Amino acid sequence: MAETFDLVIIGSGPGGLSSALLAQKSSKSHLILEKGRNIMQGIIDTYPKGKKVYPTIPKGYEGLFPVPEIKPPEEKVPVELYIEQIQALASKSRLNIHFNEEFQEIMGAYPDYLVKTNKGSYLAQNIILAFGSNIPNDLGIYGEAKTVRRNIENGEDYIGVNVLVIGGGNAAADVVCSLSKIKRQAKDDTTSVYWAHIKETFEINKDTARDLGEEILLGGHIKILQKAVPKIGEVDAEGIDRLYIHQTISPSLGNDLYTYQGMSFPMKNVIACIGTHGPSAIFDTLNLQQITCTGVICKIAREGERLLMLSEHFETGRKGIYAIGGAISPSYMEIGSDGIIKEKKHSNLIFTAVWDAKIAVDKILQG
Ligand SMILES: Cc1cc2nc3c(=O)[nH]c(=O)nc-3n(C[C@H](O)[C@H](O)[C@H](O)COP(=O)(O)OP(=O)(O)OC[C@H]3O[C@@H](n4cnc5c(N)ncnc54)[C@H](O)[C@@H]3O)c2cc1C
Repeated sequence: MAETFDLVIIGSGPGGLSSALLAQKSSKSHLILEKGRNIMQGIIDTYPKGKKVYPTIPKGYEGLFPVPEIKPPEEKVPVELYIEQIQALASKSRLNIHFNEEFQEIMGAYPDYLVKTNKGSYLAQNIILAFGSNIPNDLGIYGEAKTVRRNIENGEDYIGVNVLVIGGGNAAADVVCSLSKIKRQAKDDTTSVYWAHIKETFEINKDTARDLGEEILLGGHIKILQKAVPKIGEVDAEGIDRLYIHQTISPSLGNDLYTYQGMSFPMKNVIACIGTHGPSAIFDTLNLQQITCTGVICKIAREGERLLMLSEHFETGRKGIYAIGGAISPSYMEIGSDGIIKEKKHSNLIFTAVWDAKIAVDKILQG
């Protein structure tokens, strides 16, 4: 007979852990299923080594972290320290977590859901999907770019090589900053971190900008390429896969002629931090209702992208099943209590994951 819980949570990131802590405070039984070996495996896998964690509160949200224990410290500690803080909290709180257990599907109906994993099945009245957003956006270039990395596994691998980081947001800025620091601290490394963004302006928050400014003033090896467009992948005479990026240096010369300047990097030295999108295919498997974006109804998501429909409490179309945090970023469709459906911007931040958890668990407690 499968074990029964008031709440089964998928993922042990900030959203999943906050949900569990809140359920526990209200004496509701919970189980967290985490496919990785550690708490916060998603963060461990994606943050550059030593990256400072910012307790950013996005515009439009007022108030404090609803679960203060999960808040990254104000003094912006390296990610390794933040993870230690959270691991200590999870063991002190005796959270019920199964590691190395991957969620697969949900059967049955409210209030008797059966959650299936690669190791077993659990009965649950409510389920919170807090599995993050880990599907990288497509580089959109012609030719294969499979060897392009999405984050840094080992920063030291880039000492002595020119590296290209693509992307205009915080994740790209963090990678640029970390690599530059590693190069600066390595002896005799004269190579650079090239930072390319398709637009002229970068979209980074104040804390990240401050760290980046400090790194540049300390002599960081950063070269910025604005309006730089990744183009085709190519194979050079030595059989090395390369990525070519170009900047337009003059408007049309007439007769369909343009002047470009370009650079070509071995793909193994390219890191594309161009964001992730929600796990639409998983939502389909779970029969959760989504809406396909068209220009009229979506301002944030791209044409044709599918957005999950959620209530104001992050409840999906299937009663008792909620989706929160990175899994619903950067936007979802909210169906208001007045029945009006609108696209909601949802920043992928620790704060928003924790905020969502509070709203979802409050709704679960109300019944
Ligand atoms: C490079 C980088 C830097 C960032 N810096 C900051 C920052 O400084 N400040 C900030 O506020 N935010 C930052 N963010 C964003 C922040 O980390 C995310 O918003 C946050 O982690 C989202 O929390 P979550 O709980 O929704 O998902 P996640 O943290 O992604 O956690 C999801 C968990 O679910 C697990 N999982 C996935 N699928 C399954 C499955 N099928 N079965 C079981 N488990 C599963 C994963 O292993 C993971 O542990 C950064 C993000 C990146 C990529």
